[in-house]
Amino acid sequence: MVNTQETILEIDLNALKHNVKHLQSKLSNNTKFLAVVKAFAYGSDAVEVAKYLQNLNIDYFAVAYTYEGVALRDAGITSPILVLHPQPASFNTIIERCLEPSIYSHRVLKLFIACAETHNQANYPIHLKFNTGLNRLGFSEEEITKILNLLGKTESIKVRSLFSHLSASEDLNEKEFTLKQIKTFKSIANQIHQKLDYKPFLHQCNTSGIINYPEAHFDMVRSGIGLYGFGNDPKVNQHLKPIATLKTIISQIHTLKKGDSLGYNRGFVAKKDTKTATLPIGHADGIKRQYGNGNGFVIINNKKAPILGNVCMDMIMVDITDIDCQEGDQVVVFDQSHTAETLAEKVNSISYELLTAVSQRVKRVIHR
Ligand SMILES: *Cc1c(COP(=O)(O)O)cnc(C)c1O
Repeated sequence: MVNTQETILEIDLNALKHNVKHLQSKLSNNTKFLAVVKAFAYGSDAVEVAKYLQNLNIDYFAVAYTYEGVALRDAGITSPILVLHPQPASFNTIIERCLEPSIYSHRVLKLFIACAETHNQANYPIHLKFNTGLNRLGFSEEEITKILNLLGKTESIKVRSLFSHLSASEDLNEKEFTLKQIKTFKSIANQIHQKLDYKPFLHQCNTSGIINYPEAHFDMVRSGIGLYGFGNDPKVNQHLKPIATLKTIISQIHTLKKGDSLGYNRGFVAKKDTKTATLPIGHADGIKRQYGNGNGFVIINNKKAPILGNVCMDMIMVDITDIDCQEGDQVVVFDQSHTAETLAEKVNSISYELLTAVSQRVKRVIHR
């Protein structure tokens, strides 16, 4: 890992490979693997991650929005890309860039068929999303007849897969609920398989589903957080390696006397002589204000340095009273041992949120 002179996010592609291999080891040979690379591949670097995974022969990619898929196509990704949450306004782009939409409602299905017909498409691949209890996006079981009617009237599209999403795959206290979601999904799939003269493939599991519900792997699984090194469970985390390390540097050191205040709104007032370091990373880089006032910490020379006072837009100040360090020294915000999850927990958040918050102005450095 490099000695940085600025705030950077290092991406370790070997760790990514390790995570893929671990997750794939949970699957049977004919289960396909979809890599979820939405939100800049969970705040890392979607293009670099997708290029690397394409070389590892990952079957599918998923993004949330159309423009995320366009960025991958522009970068030369040729694998199938599922767009999980497209809006009808982007359907022309979806077809022009060979992206595959998740179709989640009757309104959206009708609009997509109309668009595919305008583009003179035949058998354009779509994926039908079913709601089995998350109540977020997706058709209900009751809408199957309506869907089949629409499908029967057009040659422009073809259903490549049926899928659903689990609400609490990481929480074994909710096992009963999850098993019910799996049962509902199977029932939906059976009804559709009976009525169509071809067989769309099936998928329901995210990362924690891969680990906890092997009976629901079906034809493909969709992994996001696991690829990036987190498994929503300490036992799972042991087998995964966080791919992202957020590093910065000490810009300046100040010595506060008892009674001196620090930062905006005098958020911290020294109760004793206190040495502080100012770091070039703030809420505009992804360190939310909640991490301030002693809730969050960074690591300097292997010691914890709590964030003092209010987080500024471009800076934080940390307590280095008991740390031997100098201006220009390296600072770890999170890495493979002081993980994003540990830091996120300090403010009742989760790895997903902290990782995806790292803003685009933080330079990405790729390690191959
Ligand atoms: C984001 C997302 C995933 C990935 O979930 P992880 O918990 O990160 O593995 C899978 N499926 C859908 C529909 C998603 O929106």
